[in-house]
Parts: sequence; structure tokens; C-alpha cells
Amino acid sequence: MIIDFHGHVGSFDSIGARQDADRILRAMDMAQVDLACVFNIGHGDASKANQLTAEFVAQHPDRFIGFLFVTPHYPEEMEAEMIRGADELGLKGIKIYPPYFNRSVEDAIWDPIFSFAHQRKLPVISHTDGTDPIVNPNNGEPQMFVPWAKKYPGANIVLAHAGNFRTGRQSCVRAARSCPNIYIEICTSWRHFRSIEDLVEGAGEDRVLYGSDLPLIDPRIHTGRVLTANISDDAKRKILGDNAARLLHLS
Ligand SMILES: [Zn+2]
Repeated sequence: MIIDFHGHVGSFDSIGARQDADRILRAMDMAQVDLACVFNIGHGDASKANQLTAEFVAQHPDRFIGFLFVTPHYPEEMEAEMIRGADELGLKGIKIYPPYFNRSVEDAIWDPIFSFAHQRKLPVISHTDGTDPIVNPNNGEPQMFVPWAKKYPGANIVLAHAGNFRTGRQSCVRAARSCPNIYIEICTSWRHFRSIEDLVEGAGEDRVLYGSDLPLIDPRIHTGRVLTANISDDAKRKILGDNAARLLHLS
């Protein structure tokens, strides 16, 4: 089974990526993706974003898994919205996007999110970027997730985009090696040669997850990177689905 750990609900008109479930399913079928995790980061009002995610998933519940989204701009609303998202809307993970909120991942304002994920054993996927955190403090430098992973071992923290380029990937590997509950998701528009092999050699085949960033990026690009990588068939199976199934409690 192939599980895509990174997909978006909502349209991105500037690049022609539309929220069109049938079109997205066709793209998933072409990449042989069985299930896609999706989230909506397009609304400051998290309850609206989560409602739209739940409605999107309800069109094809056999193909999509919804993740909830919360923003640290409204800390007093976060916990109630996470409970609603998980218990009423059936959302199975949490997405955070630090670059939107002018809040470093090190800020205590994120604590309730990681705490909730720990209590509920949910995965938290965050945008990451290996840019120098002194230059770009809000981009989600991978090392910033280490204290949260240590404080909340029940939360499985997924570093989306694998830090986006070479120094970011190296930082993701260091983070994963220091915490058993840190995972690395591969979708990115930075596709250096041997990137999958480096992640597997550095962090281990149990800690790398396939994601596509659909509908922004063709899901075949990243299945292709995994399928053609110089790693074992077992490692490919784990990256493309088995590791995600474990985090989503499907196996
Ligand atoms: Zn994305």
C-alpha cells in the first residue's frame, strides 16, 4: 500500500493547482497512491479550515485521511479546536505551518499542540526548512523540533520537505537520530541526486515517509525518487507506506 503523507485541501490558483477531488484521485492513481493525508492551511480561522478538510475527505473516505490544522494566533481556541477536529471530524493528525505565523517553533505558544499530539498519539507534520534560523527564525529549522520530541515522546513529529535542501536534510537526519519519535517526509522541490539514499543511510529506513505535496506537485515525482533509489525493496515498502501506516495506527 502506498500512503502519501503530505497533501493539501484548497486551491493554489497561481500555479493551477485546484481543489478537485476527481483530478487529484486521477493523479494518485497514476502514481499508484492508495491513501493521501490532506490538510488545509489556507484559513486563519482553523475551525473553517478543518471543516473544509472534513468535507473534502467525506467525498472519498476510502482514499483520503484528514489532518487538523491549528494556529498559534488564537491560543485560547487551540485545544477546543483540536478536540473537535479529532473527536467530531475524525481527523487523524495535525499539520502546523510556522512560516505563516511569525512564531519560531521554539516558542512556548506551540506547546498545547505537541502536548495534545502526545496525549492522543497523533502525528504532527510541520513545514521545515534548513535556512539559518538566525536569518529565518520562523521557517521551521529541523533542530527546533528536538526539544518538543523529547518533552512529548508520544507525539510523532514529521519533518515535512526533509528540510528542503542539503543542509536541511542533514539537520533532519541529526534530529531523527537524537529522537526516536522524529520522522522525515520527502516532498520538496529541491531534488538533489542521492537524497533518498542519504536520508535512509542517516536516519534509517523506518524513519522516512513518502509525501507528494499534492496537488502542488505531481505525486509521481516523489514515488519515482523512492522507487529508483539505491535502497532495498524492504526500505522502499516502508517509505512508501508501512511507516505511515504505523504512525496512522492502520497497522
Ligand atoms: Zn505542502
